[in-house]
Amino acid sequence: MQVFTTVESLHSYIHENPNLGRLAFIPTLGALHQGHLALMQRGQDHCDSIVVSIFVNPTQFNNPKDLEKYPRPLANDIYLLEKQNADILFLPKNEEIYPDGLNMHVPIDVSHLTTVLEGPNRPGHFEGVVTVVKRLLDIVKPHCLIMGQKDYQQQAIIGEMIRQLKMPVELITHPTIREPSGLAMSSRNVRIDPKLRPLAPTLYQTLLEAKKMYPRYTPKQIESHCGKKILDAGFNLEYFSLVHSSSLQSVTQWGDATSTVACVAAWLGDIRLIDNMILY
Ligand code: AMP
Repeated sequence: MQVFTTVESLHSYIHENPNLGRLAFIPTLGALHQGHLALMQRGQDHCDSIVVSIFVNPTQFNNPKDLEKYPRPLANDIYLLEKQNADILFLPKNEEIYPDGLNMHVPIDVSHLTTVLEGPNRPGHFEGVVTVVKRLLDIVKPHCLIMGQKDYQQQAIIGEMIRQLKMPVELITHPTIREPSGLAMSSRNVRIDPKLRPLAPTLYQTLLEAKKMYPRYTPKQIESHCGKKILDAGFNLEYFSLVHSSSLQSVTQWGDATSTVACVAAWLGDIRLIDNMILY
């Protein structure tokens, strides 16, 4: 695996090695787990070579404590990337992503997607994500971009950015990889209080229940039943919402949407967990 920390060295290597062929790109914040590795495998199935970036992007953290505490086990990440046969690791410093004088404005309107679900709870988060993913795509110029369904809203927003800017890249969204308990894998899971960990799979179990309740119950009934179940289990619930799978707008009756996804965000102790499931 080749490791590059500057845009210039990455560009030279890609330019000098046309045999790399079609590139699949997997942007990450590091602290890699099986979910990230599944995205890499998907990239390998779909393209000739894979490029993974590890960049803990400060502009997408609305909470400075979360940024400071974000795990950064780089040596283990490199070990996992080598084992998964990644071709290129891009490990940029802040100055490479945000050089002085570069206009970072992304001329799109995705406000209908950023003002719902995670949006109100994480001000500035998606603006940060859009800016960094656009910048990384401009640098890597991949054939396809692999993202996880785990961050459902994020992949919907990036998909919309690609459409609006007519970027020549295919977005592939990979299903959520879970621990045997059903808990969606996340780099933040290592920070869950061990005493609270047995409660963590409640989110997945509740999503499964929502799926079973469709279509016998109304969307409102499912939202309130599932929200209450999560609260009763001891979580601090932010939302349990049924939304249209592409517009992310609320589904109030089953005829509203051709496909509906249930999205949940809740705090378990001081760790914020998100998860989702496509109901139909
Ligand atoms: P992150 O490092 O958390 O920014 O995640 C990098 C990419 O991996 C994003 O596209 C995530 O949606 C995806 N990802 C994270 N966790 C999972 C998971 N459990 N299953 C599938 N994809 C995931």
